[in-house]
This record gives sequence, C-alpha cells and structure tokens, in this order.
Amino acid sequence: MEMEKILAALRRHGPEMVAFRHDLHMHPETCYEEHRTAAKVLEKLNEWGIEATTGIAGTGIVAVIRGSRPGNRAIGLRADMDALNMVESNTFAHRSTYPNKMHGCGHDGHTTMLLGAARYLKNNPDFAGTVNCFFQPAEEGGAGGLRMIEEGLFQRFPCDSVYSLHNKPGIPVGKFVTRSGPQLACADSWTVTFQGTGGHGGAPEKSTDTTIPLAQFILGIQTIIARNVPALESAVLSIGTVHGGLSFNVMPSEIVVTGTTRCHKPEIRDLLEKRLTEIAQGAAAMSHCTVVIDYQRGYPPLINTRAETDKAIAAAAAVVGIENVDGDNPPINAADDFAYMLRERPGCNVMMGNGDGPQWKNNHMPGYDFNDEAIPFGSAYWISIVNEELNQPA
Ligand SMILES: [Zn+2]
Ligand SMILES: [Zn+2]
Repeated sequence: MEMEKILAALRRHGPEMVAFRHDLHMHPETCYEEHRTAAKVLEKLNEWGIEATTGIAGTGIVAVIRGSRPGNRAIGLRADMDALNMVESNTFAHRSTYPNKMHGCGHDGHTTMLLGAARYLKNNPDFAGTVNCFFQPAEEGGAGGLRMIEEGLFQRFPCDSVYSLHNKPGIPVGKFVTRSGPQLACADSWTVTFQGTGGHGGAPEKSTDTTIPLAQFILGIQTIIARNVPALESAVLSIGTVHGGLSFNVMPSEIVVTGTTRCHKPEIRDLLEKRLTEIAQGAAAMSHCTVVIDYQRGYPPLINTRAETDKAIAAAAAVVGIENVDGDNPPINAADDFAYMLRERPGCNVMMGNGDGPQWKNNHMPGYDFNDEAIPFGSAYWISIVNEELNQPA
C-alpha cells in the first residue's frame, strides 16, 4: 500500500470533503433526529454508487463495499453523526445555524472522514472481503450504537471485528493514540431517596430524620473508593444534587441525592453498585428510615482487544509513522457507546489529534471545532485498517 498515493487521492477531494463537513457543522442534529445528516450521507453514497441500507436505529445507515478479491472476512468501521445540545460561540462562516445545537464533539468530521474512505475503497477495491461502514445516530447519550445492535446490525452485516475513530483535541494533527484493554470509562448515574416521617425540629425523638442517613451516606460512599476499590484500580464517585426540606424548623420526610460513578472495568462497576446500595440501605436502617435506590447503568467501559489494537497501531503507523502513534495511551474518564459494539465483536477505538493550539482545548466546549486538516489522516487511517484486516488471501 502506497500511503503517499492514497493521501494524494484523498487530497484531490479535499475541498469537497471540507465543504461537506462545514455543511454538517452548520446543520447539527441530535439524538435520533439526524434526518438531514443521514440524507446528506445517503446522497453521497448514491452519487458514488455505494450500496447503502437506511433506517437502522432510525437515522442510521450502513454502507457496504466489497473487495475485488475473494474473501470471507468482514469488518465494521463506525462513525457517529450526532451533535450536542449546546450553544456555539464560534463566529466563523460555518458556525451552527440551529439554535442551541452544535457539533461540539466533531462527529461532523467523523462522518466526513468515513465517507471519504468509503469513496476511495469503492474506487480502489483491491482487498479481500467486505467493509461495512456504520453511520451511527445518537452517540451523545442516546445509545445509538446499542440500538443498531438490537436492530440486528451484526446479523444483517456480519463482522469479524469493529473499529472506531474519535478526534482528540490537545494533541497535534497527524498523531494517533490508543491502548489495549480499558480505554474509556463507564458512565452510570444513580438516585437515592431517603424517606422517614419528618417532623418538628424541636422534637426529633418523635420522628425519623432523613438528614442523618443522608450525611452518613455521603461520607460512607467515599469509603468505597478508599477502602473497597483495589488501590491500583481507578474509580470516581461524585454527588451532583441533594434536595430536601422547605423550612429550617421542619425535618424533611424525604431527601433525594443523585450522582455519577465512573470506572474502567466491569468488575469494579459491579463493586461500586453493590457497595453504594449496601451503604444506602445500612445508613437508612440505622436511623429507622427507608431508602429507594435507582442505579442506572449508562454506557459500559470501552475495552479494546489486543490483536485488533495491534492492527490499529500498525494501520495508523502506515499513515503517519510509528513515531506518531502512542499505542499505550492512558485511559480517560469519558465514555462512548462504541463500547457496546466492542462487547459483541473484537476491535479497537483510536483517537486522532485535532490540534494542540489554544482553540483546540477540548470537545464539548462552545468554541470547539473539528480540525479540517485532520480529514485526510482520518480517511487514510480507515483505508489503512482495511489493508491490515482484509489484505490476506482467503
Ligand atoms: Zn462527545
Ligand atoms: Zn464524540
């Protein structure tokens, strides 16, 4: 595979792909409402003669490209298409035209890069097997990846492995980072409601007081991290809201406390839920109160598999050189619903530099923008992973 030729071919379509990305950025759509976005993606796939199936998880699309050489292997390449509910502060020409919606995570770029790769692969199908391109809705909280799986993604489009690519502000364009094993966290949320009789602040002996189990619960759950999670593992537990009471001299009959827990391993996740439940129940029992616990599991931890991570590292190295690939980057506490696909199939999520200038601080910031300079690197990475996975004779 001659990477220079591939990059040159991608750059020939550079202005067209930048214009496509800017159009998506101007029209950000969120959580299963990506109708215009999906129509734009489909328009390009049709224009380029690429087979496409629509309506998977609502607005999701799967594009299929078959290699010119015989082969039974198939892979899935996933890009997310959705935006965020937030106000953009940028003033450039391609800023959002929709109120309170913004492509603040760069999924406009992800969609564009996978499309660019799909066109190249369609025109240069010198591989053995099948490439399935997943254009996914609702990554930001809507679990669009899970819904695609529930709607038969891997039965309808069998895959031996799956890959995903996310931009990463704070590191230069042309650098790639990933790791084998846990890379992103699970993001769970919980609501704990303490209930008692409440009563006169001057006569606590006649009441059950929910403020006492609340206090014990708040301090008690901090011991989960300090005393239950093994010292060399990581976990975060934070309280977000506490609500209860209306008057200084009336003990509240109900107090509601909510929070979030994050970690990188399924067994630590089980431990956090178990201990949080036990401590809430124990604190309530000590004060003759009752408690209702609603523990909601969000996205699971994202865990890359070793063999596929090695292929992803090799694929990125073929594009930018091994010196620009960090294959042992530390895990972070963000979450991504590609984790659901990785529970079904082996695979790897890679993060790619979005620039390290002051304007590239982080995703989900009002002044964020996907970096157009990164588009050819991302498309080239996708082509390179196809070469890694589907270049063997059947
Ligand atoms: Zn995001
Ligand atoms: Zn994102």
